[in-house]
Amino acid sequence: MKFADVIVDISHEKLDKIFQYRIPAHLEDSLSAGDQVLIPFGKGNRNIKGYVVGIRDHADYPLEKIKEIVGVVTGSVSVESRLIALAWWMKEHYGSTMNQALKTVVPVKKQVKGIEKKTLRFLGTGEELKQLQEEAERRHYAARARLLLAFSKTERVSWETATHTLALTPSTWEPLVKKGLVAVETMGVYRNPIHVERQQEQPVVFNEEQRQIVEDFWTRYQAGERGTSLIYGITGSGKTEVYMECMDRVIKSGKQVTLLIPEIALTYQTVMRFYRRFGDKVSIINSRLSAGERYDQFERAKRGEIQIMIGPRSALFTPFPNLGLIVMDEEHESAYKSETAPRYHARETAVQWAKINHASLILGSATPSLTAYTRALQGQYHLYKLTRRAKANSQLARVQIVDLRAELMEGNKSIFSRTLRELMEEKLARGEQIILFMNRRGYSNFISCRSCGEAIKCPHCDVSLTYHRDGRLKCHYCGYQMEMPKLCPKCGSTYLAGFGTGTQKIEEYTKKIFPDARILRMDLDTTSGKTGHEEILAAFHEGQADILIGTQMIVKGHDFPRVTLVGILAADVSLHAPDYRCSENTFALLTQAAGRAGRDAAAGDVVIQTYQPEHYSIQAAANQDYEYFYQKEMAYRRMLHYPPSCTLLTVLMTSECEEAVTDAANWTERWLWAQTEVSRLQIVGPAEAPVYKINDIYRKILYLKQENYDILLQIKERMEIAAGAMPWFAKVSFLFDFS
Ligand code: ADP
Ligand code: ZN
Ligand code: ZN
Repeated sequence: MKFADVIVDISHEKLDKIFQYRIPAHLEDSLSAGDQVLIPFGKGNRNIKGYVVGIRDHADYPLEKIKEIVGVVTGSVSVESRLIALAWWMKEHYGSTMNQALKTVVPVKKQVKGIEKKTLRFLGTGEELKQLQEEAERRHYAARARLLLAFSKTERVSWETATHTLALTPSTWEPLVKKGLVAVETMGVYRNPIHVERQQEQPVVFNEEQRQIVEDFWTRYQAGERGTSLIYGITGSGKTEVYMECMDRVIKSGKQVTLLIPEIALTYQTVMRFYRRFGDKVSIINSRLSAGERYDQFERAKRGEIQIMIGPRSALFTPFPNLGLIVMDEEHESAYKSETAPRYHARETAVQWAKINHASLILGSATPSLTAYTRALQGQYHLYKLTRRAKANSQLARVQIVDLRAELMEGNKSIFSRTLRELMEEKLARGEQIILFMNRRGYSNFISCRSCGEAIKCPHCDVSLTYHRDGRLKCHYCGYQMEMPKLCPKCGSTYLAGFGTGTQKIEEYTKKIFPDARILRMDLDTTSGKTGHEEILAAFHEGQADILIGTQMIVKGHDFPRVTLVGILAADVSLHAPDYRCSENTFALLTQAAGRAGRDAAAGDVVIQTYQPEHYSIQAAANQDYEYFYQKEMAYRRMLHYPPSCTLLTVLMTSECEEAVTDAANWTERWLWAQTEVSRLQIVGPAEAPVYKINDIYRKILYLKQENYDILLQIKERMEIAAGAMPWFAKVSFLFDFS
C-alpha cells in the first residue's frame, strides 16, 4: 500500500499543512510529485483539488483515518504542478526537505502595499521632453536626466522602476508634477493602458557570428528541438544582442522567457536595454523587492500580463504558463549558487526546469565555468562561440603585466607601478576615464602590532578587523565595531600600524598623486544605501569623474565607453583564497576587468599588477585566452579530483560549543570509514573551516570526493540519519553542499 502527501493551496504560507491520502491500486505506479488529484476533504468529504508533494510506503496515522484519493485531474498540466515537480527534483538532488524546496520554488502569498502600485506618466509633448532633457543636461541634474531618458523610451515608468532601477526619489519628479508635466497614477490605471511606445530601439545589424547563432538556434527551436546551449563570447562580443533576438522570436511565437542575470550586474544600463527593446512586456525582480511585490510580479507572469521576467537566481521560478526559453547570462557567476537549503545551483535547476516545461536554455559567458564548458565539449550542451568585439572599431584592450617584485627591487614602493602611473597621466591629459580595480578579499586594512605581531581580531569571528577612515575597526563578517585602540590589546605596546591597502586608502593616495582628477569610489561601504550603487555608476557613466576606484562590483557588465584604462592593482590577491575555484574566479575577474577597457573606438589599455606574473590565470587573462586557461585548470582539477572531474560533497558542521563540533567531526570521519563505499571515496579532513569561528559559532569541515553523484547523495542521506542518533546532535548543525 502506498500513500501520498497532498497540499491543497500551494501559495499558502502554511505549506507544512500536508494531508495524507491512500493511493488507489490502479494509480500506485503512475502517480508522482506535482500531479493534481481530487481528494475528499473535511467533514462532508467534499471533493476538492490538491497537489501531490510526496509519495511514501507507510502512513503516519492509523489506516482507518486515512481517506483515499478519488482520482487524478487530467488535462493540461498546471504551472503549480510543474513547480511542485521541480521542488521534488530539488529535494532529491540537493538533499533538502520538501518543505524547504517548496518554499524556495513557490512564492508566498502576501498583501502588496499600496505605494508599489503607483506609476509615473509623462504628460507633456515630445518637444517639451526634449527641452527638459537639455535643461537637465546643462544643469547636471543627473537623477532627473535618468527619469527623462526613461520617458523618452516609454510613456509610463512604474514606481518600482523609478525608485529601484533608476534609483530615484520623489524629489526628482515632484517639481515636474507641480508643473503638470508628470502624473503619479495608481496601478489600476496602469494595468489596462492603451500603451504608446515612444521610441522603440532598432535592433543592431548582426555580424556573421551572431547571425549564425541566432539562425541555428531558431532553426532547431522551430524543429521542436529543446536543450541547452552555451554561448562562449568574449566581453563585448554581442551576446546580449543575441539573447534579445532569440527572446524576441520566442515571445513572438506565443511563449514566455525568463532571463537570469547576477544581481550585481542588474544595473540601470542593462535593464534599460531590455525596456527599450521589449517595453511593457518586461518585468524585473531583484532582492530588494518585498515578498509581496515579488508575489505580485509572479502573479502578473502567471496571468500572462508580461512575457519576459528578468532577475537574479530566484527569478527562475517565475510561473509562466507557457515558458519557451530560459537565458542565463554570466553563467559562471558564483551568485547562481544558493547558500541556504536547498543549496541549489541555478544552472542545474534551470536545465531541469527547462526540461519540465519543454523549453530551451541558453547559457552565456565570456569566461564559462569549467563545469559548463566541459559539458559543452562532451556534447551535453550545444557550443556557440563569439570571437570578436561586436561594435565597429571596438578592439580588445592592450594588456601589460607588471611584476610588482621587480618594481619594489627597483625602489618603487608606491601602489602604482611606473607603467600604470604613466598611462594614468596620459589618459587624464586626454580627458579619458580610468578604472582602478581592487580585489577586496584578503586585502582589507587590518591593524597589527609591530611589537608582538598580533593583528587585532574580531572577538566573535576568526578574522582581522578592518580599519575605516572614521577611526573605527569593523568586522566584515558580523558587523562588530570598536574604536581604534591606543594600545595593543595583547601586549600593551603603542606601536600599532595598518597593513594592506583598502579602497579608501587607494582613493587617498590617488588624490595625492593626481590632485586635479575627480575621483569616485565604489565598494560595500559607499553602496550600503538602497541606491548608492546606481548613483555612483550613473555619475561615472555621465562623465562626472575621471577615475572610478572599486571592488568586484565595478567590473560586472557595465559599459563605460570613455574608459580607456583599467588598472588592476594587485591581481593575485584572489589566487590565495581558500577555495579550489580561486584560479577560475581570478581568471574570470581579471578577464571581466580587462574587458571594461576600450569598449569604444579609443584604444584601451589594461595594466595588471601582480606578484605572480607567471601564473597561468594571469597569463591567460592578459591574453584573453580562455582555451589555454581551461586546459591548465582542468589538468589541475583532474590531478586533485576536484569538480568537474569529480563531485565534491562538503560537510560543514557548526556549533556554539567547540567540543560538540569536534566530536561531530571525529564521529563523521569514523562513520565514513565504516561504510562499504569507503574504498571508492576520497575523504579530506576533518579540519577547521577557513574561517573557524564566525559570530561565536565554531565551524569544522570535511570533504568527500567521488565521481558518481548518486553515491555521494546516498551516503549523505545515511549520514544524516546516523548523526541524528548521536548525543551531541542537538548542539551541532550539519550542512551539506554538493558541487
Ligand atoms: P556582450 O553581452 O557580449 O558583452 P553586448 O551585446 O552588450 O555584448 O554588445 C556590446 C556592444 O556592442 C553593445 O553596445 C551592443 O549594442 C553593441 N553591438 C552588439 N552587436 C552589434 C552589432 N552587430 N553591430 C553593432 N553593434 C553591436
Ligand atoms: Zn602587541
Ligand atoms: Zn565578527
